[in-house]
Amino acid sequence: MDFGITGRTALVTGADSGIGWQTARSLLDEGVRVVITDLEEEPLRAAALRLDAPSDKCLWFPADITSVESLKALRHFVETSLGGLDILVQSAGITGAQGLFHEISDQGWVDTITVDLLGPVRVLQQFLPALRSGGWGRIVLLASEDAVQPYDDELPYCAAKAGILALAKGLSRTYAREGLLVNTVSPAFIHTPMTDAMMDKRADQLGVSRQDAIESFLDEERPYMELKRRGTPEEVAAVITFLCSERASFVNGSNYRVDSGSVATI
Ligand code: NAD
Repeated sequence: MDFGITGRTALVTGADSGIGWQTARSLLDEGVRVVITDLEEEPLRAAALRLDAPSDKCLWFPADITSVESLKALRHFVETSLGGLDILVQSAGITGAQGLFHEISDQGWVDTITVDLLGPVRVLQQFLPALRSGGWGRIVLLASEDAVQPYDDELPYCAAKAGILALAKGLSRTYAREGLLVNTVSPAFIHTPMTDAMMDKRADQLGVSRQDAIESFLDEERPYMELKRRGTPEEVAAVITFLCSERASFVNGSNYRVDSGSVATI
């Protein structure tokens, strides 16, 4: 299938690893010029090298999505290097404060919401003008299965991701007639550094190997993940790339689950 986005321009956040990196890979394969961004310069530079694309097609610039000043510098870089912006994939995020509600401090809530909800808001504040100006645009925000199926040991993350669904739905109403379509993707348990860290913590707590931790997690905590394995970043990036494409021209305000059935409701 020709996705029809050759020559388009994109910004991908959280792109030094995991789903963001794989999405950059996939967009580059479609002929999109991509700026990747993440917190730290060195891992980002290495991530750009691993993408193995010409330097005028794949550019990188570090930024903290919680910092308006940092995002302004990123905006300046995107304006001067890409000229305009057609596609935004907001993948940066953290698991944040974990524990039952009575175990999580006020600061834990503030820190998690600041990255996972306010961060995407600030990214949108900086890049919406450029995305609106071309008459064609795509925004994909990474939400999570947790947005609609809250787990009681990570409520700040669940609340932030539920906020992402509301944010995207609202934006999809405001800008669709300008040609700017907004959707969310909600993965579950994808094989990335984020879930490696979760599984290493679980393995430590249970005194088992990472693989045993994954298997017991699937059995006990994600019983409806019918494929009984972690997903791959490629499997998420494929859906994101479709939503960023010309082929998704009638998809707006949707939430695509990439979760092998983890969300039990229809
Ligand atoms: P990841 O940890 O591999 O990537 C997230 C990236 O975000 C990291 O590289 C990190 O440095 C970056 N980041 C964190 N805070 C930042 C900040 N303040 N500014 C800029 N960058 C920052 O994780 P991933 O699994 O690829 O997750 C990508 C997105 O998908 C996240 O939004 C996550 O919540 C969501 N998600 C992931 C899973 C999963 O199972 N992996 C499931 C549901 C949702």
